[in-house]
Amino acid sequence: MNKPLIVITGASSGIGAATAQAFSAAGHPLLLLARRIDKLEALDLPNTLCTQVDVTDRAAMNTAIQQAEAQYGATDALINNAGVMLLGQLDQQEPGEWQRMFDVNVMGLLNGTQAVLPAMKARRGGTIINISSVAGRKTFPGHAAYCGTKFAVHAMSENLREEVADDNVRVITIAPGAVETELLSHTTSDEIIEGYESWKESMGGAITPDDIARATLFAYQQPQNLCIREIVLAATRQQ
Ligand code: NDP
Repeated sequence: MNKPLIVITGASSGIGAATAQAFSAAGHPLLLLARRIDKLEALDLPNTLCTQVDVTDRAAMNTAIQQAEAQYGATDALINNAGVMLLGQLDQQEPGEWQRMFDVNVMGLLNGTQAVLPAMKARRGGTIINISSVAGRKTFPGHAAYCGTKFAVHAMSENLREEVADDNVRVITIAPGAVETELLSHTTSDEIIEGYESWKESMGGAITPDDIARATLFAYQQPQNLCIREIVLAATRQQ
């Protein structure tokens, strides 16, 4: 039997790219979204549509999903993974960075969710998977706005789960600790980057995007009547 469509945001690098590879290897057609279309296409996965979409652009996200569904049928899972982490001390950080994190990590997730949810409710099945963070459960210095976005992801996920449980739609939150990706590279403070790198060294190195992809696929592959509500995973030595 043909496997259903999976939509993954922020699939051009890191966790999103590894997740795309894992779901493709499991036989799913994919819609991959990000701004760097060249990186999406370089994954070179079968039965995959790659579309250049900024997740803050609600209309573009809706159009991309409609086009993919015309080709592959209903979206069975949306993986809201696109995110940015711009660390900074609150008294020094450029406010545009706070705005960008809330726009992508919070508004982008809501945009994607609203694009797929009505059809999932109507057919009484489907899964929303939100990539949050350990920084959505506890705080760290220099993370105020980023933690704000990830605490919001946890809160919105739990609220949504309550809202759609009776429609048989699952909502799963994946909360990784430090993962080796490009995420840290967009922070502008060299001092914060150096501190973060030595923190990762202190735990014997961060975990990998494949670790997250494996956990996400495991949660998704459970029967529709079983919802793994949350997975928190981090390097064993991460505090
Ligand atoms: P990467 O920087 O490697 O990946 C981020 C992805 O998000 C890229 O594909 C990027 O694509 C995409 N993205 C960023 N802004 C936008 C946008 N406006 N529209 C569409 N896509 C966008 O980092 P990770 O893989 O680490 O991050 C993935 C998720 O995992 C994030 O939500 C992050 O917060 C979360 N996470 C990461 C952890 C870590 O330690 N790495 C720990 C916990 C959670 P492009 O630039 O091409 O648009």
